[in-house]
Amino acid sequence: MEISERMKQVAPSMTLAIDAKAKKLQEEGVDVLNFGAGEPDFNTPAPICEAAKKAIDGGFHKYTPVPGTLELRKAIGEYLNKEYKVQYAPTDIVVSCGAKHSLYNVFMAIVNPGDEVLIPAPYWVSYPEQVKLAGGVPVFVECSEADEFKLTPQALKAKITSKTKALILNSPSNPTGAVVGRKAMEGIAELVLKHKITVVSDEIYAKLVYGEEHVCFPSLSKEVAAQTILVNGMSKAYAMTGWRLGYAAGPANVMKAVSDLQGQSTSNPASIVQKAGVAALALPDSEIQKMVAVFQKRRDMIVEGLNAIPGVKCLKPAGAFYVFPNVTGLFKPRRSNSMELSGYLLDKAKVALTPGIAFGAEGFMRMSYATGEKIIQEGLKRIKEAV
Ligand code: PMP
Ligand code: GLU
Repeated sequence: MEISERMKQVAPSMTLAIDAKAKKLQEEGVDVLNFGAGEPDFNTPAPICEAAKKAIDGGFHKYTPVPGTLELRKAIGEYLNKEYKVQYAPTDIVVSCGAKHSLYNVFMAIVNPGDEVLIPAPYWVSYPEQVKLAGGVPVFVECSEADEFKLTPQALKAKITSKTKALILNSPSNPTGAVVGRKAMEGIAELVLKHKITVVSDEIYAKLVYGEEHVCFPSLSKEVAAQTILVNGMSKAYAMTGWRLGYAAGPANVMKAVSDLQGQSTSNPASIVQKAGVAALALPDSEIQKMVAVFQKRRDMIVEGLNAIPGVKCLKPAGAFYVFPNVTGLFKPRRSNSMELSGYLLDKAKVALTPGIAFGAEGFMRMSYATGEKIIQEGLKRIKEAV
């Protein structure tokens, strides 16, 4: 059967593919160490699970409003106000089945065929594909290793054209962990205001910063907020990847379009999961900070270990749970790109890493350190021996 022209242009998610491959090998009894997917190894905190159980037992089983329950949207609004001093009414918020779903809905709601969408590179795998699905044209803005992979206003300015519709921001970044500082964010804000560019700010790693400030983009000013759609979700900060809960917040007319699209596609995210989401947002920050402290320790360990491998050069990122080492020093004629190196390391050392090319950056590999310290130590040992 013929598939659509649309889907012929879309690549499968390489992060999910590598993760699936590693998990399958593990199921078959192969001792694979998985540094592939960005998925916290912690269990979802108990109060969140309790809230879900209560929702099941209490009969919270029906359709909810399409954009999410009023209770959850109010809780999200209050949370964002408390954390970042931004103002969102429940009508400015739509809850979806994960931040990935929110992003997809948002691109469908704002992008017209032929619109250019600026994507800082290295980028998370799903951005260009989702932009293409919405009929847009991904335009990459290179963020160099010399700039610690941080987007600069200068690099952004060079890529703005009359067709630029939107900019995707992702700080802290997947795959590099880069955190863009306040001054650069202000420079970026000035440019998007001047050129009337809509910003989709994916802040899913906002809570995972190590000693640096997370600048919430719409918090910069009322004018900036009016041009920004903030995307976040529960997967990373609350170890809730499998529950599928995310949200978008922004101007009410865009959110109405997002909700209308959702009403014709998936309807509301699971009712029970929404109750869990309310409990997640009520969790004391100290609980999240415990996980953050563990991630920070692992980051230090993995950066030190990688830099001790001849041919590997790794920056110390300030956020998320990824490192993005430069591995060009490892390329031999036999393993001459990140894809081959990834295959070689999986076969030879039984370690799963995602090739940099999946994120638009050849010469690099992504390692997620959302995994135990013993696994990190053993993985580093295996990589060192294999190369
Ligand atoms: N944005 C980024 C940058 C991510 O790394 C992820 C991870 N999957 C997502 C969005 C989507 O997360 P989820 O759909 O699990 O909320
Ligand atoms: N965001 C995570 C990652 O990049 C999970 C997989 C995915 O959704 O892409 O590995």
